[in-house]
Amino acid sequence: MSDHNVILGGGLAGLSCAYELAMKGQRVTVLEREPHVGGMASSFIEEGDEYWCHDFGPHRFHSRDQALLQHIKDILGDNVVTAQRLSRIVLFNRFFDYPLVASNVLRNMPPHLLAKAMLDYLWVRFLDVTRIRKYDDISFESWVTRRFGKTLYRIFFGQYTEKAWGMSPSQISADWASQRISLLNLWDTIKKTVFRPKEGEGPRTLVTSFMYPKFGGIGELSRGYVRKIEDSGTGSRVLTNAPAVRIHRDGTRIVGIEYGKHHRELMTAKNYISTLPVTALVRALAPAAPDDVVQAARSLKYISIVFVYLKLDRPSVSPDSWVYLPEKHLTVHRISEFKNFSPHCAPKDKTMVCAEITCRRGDEIWRSSDEDLRDLAEKDLISVGLIEKGQVLSCFTKRIPYAYPVYDLEYRTHIDPVIEFVKTLTNIITTGRQGNFRYNNMDQSIEMGRKVGLQLATGDYTDHAAVATGKEYFG
Ligand SMILES: Cc1cc2nc3c(=O)[nH]c(=O)nc-3n(C[C@H](O)[C@H](O)[C@H](O)COP(=O)(O)OP(=O)(O)OC[C@H]3O[C@@H](n4cnc5c(N)ncnc54)[C@H](O)[C@@H]3O)c2cc1C
Repeated sequence: MSDHNVILGGGLAGLSCAYELAMKGQRVTVLEREPHVGGMASSFIEEGDEYWCHDFGPHRFHSRDQALLQHIKDILGDNVVTAQRLSRIVLFNRFFDYPLVASNVLRNMPPHLLAKAMLDYLWVRFLDVTRIRKYDDISFESWVTRRFGKTLYRIFFGQYTEKAWGMSPSQISADWASQRISLLNLWDTIKKTVFRPKEGEGPRTLVTSFMYPKFGGIGELSRGYVRKIEDSGTGSRVLTNAPAVRIHRDGTRIVGIEYGKHHRELMTAKNYISTLPVTALVRALAPAAPDDVVQAARSLKYISIVFVYLKLDRPSVSPDSWVYLPEKHLTVHRISEFKNFSPHCAPKDKTMVCAEITCRRGDEIWRSSDEDLRDLAEKDLISVGLIEKGQVLSCFTKRIPYAYPVYDLEYRTHIDPVIEFVKTLTNIITTGRQGNFRYNNMDQSIEMGRKVGLQLATGDYTDHAAVATGKEYFG
């Protein structure tokens, strides 16, 4: 077992880590709970009379790192198309560009709201600069209001965030805003409209095109990793339907992983890498972690998503990769159309949209039947004019429980002790989006996984946890 590495989770972080280890001649076993690899970046293919392909919502890969882009090309080979990037927001039955573009906001916003927004912005800036009222950077609401004024905050950011998170933006940490909003303030929005940054220079959200697999959806990335790992000649394997159930430890050392759905087995290794939700990692430890750590992990929350897939009897719905629906009277918060990622994702004369509804695991939405969810999604899309009655051919749903970590105002007091405790375990590393309770995009999970793999294979330390920190531009 001396050269053996066990990786928990076959998403992009786990597989990219396994890839680097296997490429350096090390033996790896990846244990994945689901029947397929890819985690949140999984894809599902239907082959028969017609070819259909869908992901868990929209997955647009982008990075400014040329070496990483080349690595992705190596993984995908020639199974690649270049897709055009377009995302918009539907408000007042009109389309607004996302990220916001000042000229487009000026053109589309009802004039009375526009005037109010401008006055409000100037007023908030005046109050902030003169320190008559200091807006802090603690909550999402205050962070955005300070930079965009109250009216723009409410219309473009507040109502969407409240709907997607199911909680007041005054209770959400500003960490989320600073990581997710690619425009710094209203002035920055105006500047970026006038001086459009060149491709590769500006925020990641402003890239104009992106790479996507021609066939097989974004999950091809993970399948590509599996092929390379299993062909590496190292005896490395990726096991699906293989949930890690118990993580046995002796003090600060992990001594084995008990895994399996019906029949349990024990697997041992030199190094253990976990890309599971860090809360699940702590829960699986035997003997259990100290009470305060278990309690802190229990206090961390996640937003779940129900994906409602509608096959439609029309060739296209919109040219967008995705469209946000922030208005409160709509249940759906975003739709995506896979044909705008690769034209091969649906038959020529039909299309599929994925409507996302955020919820909490086990709540009413989570438990709703496919028929009820279809009705909700169809009604919303008709009401904003995206589809017409009678166009839905069929519907099915999928659910992911750990979609977004909840950054409430207390999350740091809970996550810090959990991560600190896991660091005391000497032969396990927690990484990836779930492993760090972060808002990673795919490139960041891959970067983290690769760094951990290279570090273990070569002994050269690189700080994987530093990826996706700070004020990065997320997409
Ligand atoms: C709706 C949505 C849209 C997104 N859109 C984009 C986008 O456009 N661009 C972008 O770059 N990123 C996007 N992302 C983010 C991207 O999906 C993630 O950053 C990336 O997939 C995370 O990979 P990961 O390996 O870190 O985590 P995960 O994919 O969550 O992998 C963790 C793996 O662990 C497995 N697992 C869990 N428990 C166990 C267990 N007990 N035993 C064994 N295995 C277990 C899971 O099944 C999973 O496969 C999006 C995410 C969501 C939710």
